[in-house]
Order: sequence, then structure tokens, then C-alpha cells
Amino acid sequence: MEEGLLRISLKNLVSLKRPAESIPVLYSRKMLMPFPDASCNNCGDCAKECRGGAITVSGAWEMDLGKCLFCGRCIEACESRSLKLVDAPDYVLKRADLIFRGGESAERGRDALDKAKRKVIGRSVNIRDVDAGSCNACEVEVNSMSNRFYDMERFGMKIVASPRHADVLLVAGPLTENMKEAFDRVVAAAPNPKVVVAMGVCAISGGLFRDGETHGGIDGSIAVDVYIPGCPPPPDAVIRALLGAFGLTGQR
Ligand code: SF4
Ligand code: SF4
Repeated sequence: MEEGLLRISLKNLVSLKRPAESIPVLYSRKMLMPFPDASCNNCGDCAKECRGGAITVSGAWEMDLGKCLFCGRCIEACESRSLKLVDAPDYVLKRADLIFRGGESAERGRDALDKAKRKVIGRSVNIRDVDAGSCNACEVEVNSMSNRFYDMERFGMKIVASPRHADVLLVAGPLTENMKEAFDRVVAAAPNPKVVVAMGVCAISGGLFRDGETHGGIDGSIAVDVYIPGCPPPPDAVIRALLGAFGLTGQR
């Protein structure tokens, strides 16, 4: 395995004892992303190695975390070892907040949705997982959110079988042409108001499939309320994102 991928994978690894991890541990973890320190000379080697097309270095270093595959290739490519692993946001509410620039802050707030959107959930979060042409990696992570380790139901969150019962559409995949009609029907079937979450790089920007027969993410087809970066985002990051977006971070 490549050194950069190994490093980023090991640092994002989850292996703790059951029962379900404690609330402080859940909140203390973070996804890690590459970000340059002051020694970056804008040589552009990392951008050339970035398969996600996430990094540009025209004048200054810039990365779109909404395109980042968390592969670590850029870290390997940087001869001056300027790229460090720093905390990535679990989620953002605005697409523009996924853009990171060298020399600026890599921190993002944990803003909650506005009151009208937060009221959508009532006393529980009913989630419909929507596959918009995903490779299935995000669905594996969504399945794990309900297992005994992550146990999202302790927070009042659950997966529902029908979009008619959903408060939240948790969408993964680049929105392929073949899934567009099914996607539109699911969106129409889910009652309003609803909260739309773009889970993972494909739903945000098309990811590796952006140049295929896809819509390059769901942004152009529906208004997105919450963006969760990652490829795929791990179960704990998605749970933290939903808790943060709904202002439930102090809740068991
Ligand atoms: S992070 Fe490293 S490889 Fe990328 S532009 Fe800066 S010095 Fe070059
Ligand atoms: S996809 Fe992300 S981790 Fe991989 S090379 Fe590009 S910026 Fe680096």
C-alpha cells in the first residue's frame, strides 16, 4: 500500500471496544485531511498527483474538500513534506466552506441549521438513505451507523423504508443518468419541508465519476442543506454531522 494512503487510512481507523463508544469519544474524533504549512512553495507537485482534481496551485494552494478522495497521494508527492494531516470538518452548511486555502484557517464552525429546518425532525431523525448511483461504499457506512458499535438509535436517529416517512434524505452517489428518474421520484415522495444531506464526495461533486454519465453531484438537482465530505465518510462522522446540523450535540 502506498505510504500516503497507509498513513491517512491508519489515522482514520476506528477500532474500539464495545459497547457503543462513549459520547466523549464520538465527539473527540475527527476525519483528517491534507493541509500545507508555511513551508509550501506552491510548486504544484501535489496538484499533479491529485486524482480527485481537488488541489489547484495557480498563485496559491487551494483544495476543494468536496472533491477530495482522502487518498493521501498529495502527501507523498510533496518533496518538502509541507502537507500535514489536520482536522477536517464533519460537515458544512455551505458548499463554499469546503474550499481551503493555504495560509488561511483550516477550521470550520459547527453551525446548526436554521430553526425552521431543525423543526423538521420533531423528536426523532427519520432518515431515508438514497442511492443516486453510489459505488455502495457510502451505503456500507450507513448500514454501520445502526450497528451495536455506533448505535445511532440512541440519538433518536433511524433509517426508514419509505421516503414518505423521511425527515432527512441522506444522498450518496454522483447522480448517474440511470438513477435520475428514481432520484426525482424519491425527492417528490418525501414530504416537505425536508432536509437534504449530500453524503460523500460523489454526491457533492461527482467524485471520481464526475466525467462519466452523471450530473456531477446532486447540487444542480436539489437544494442541499448539509454537505458531509469523505470517500466514504465513516459512520461516526455522519452521526456527528447530523447531530451538529440539528443542534443535538449535547444529547445522548
Ligand atoms: S504542498 Fe508541497 S507539493 Fe503541494 S504545492 Fe506546496 S510544496 Fe508543492
Ligand atoms: S484526493 Fe485529496 S488526499 Fe487525494 S491527492 Fe487529492 S487532495 Fe490529496
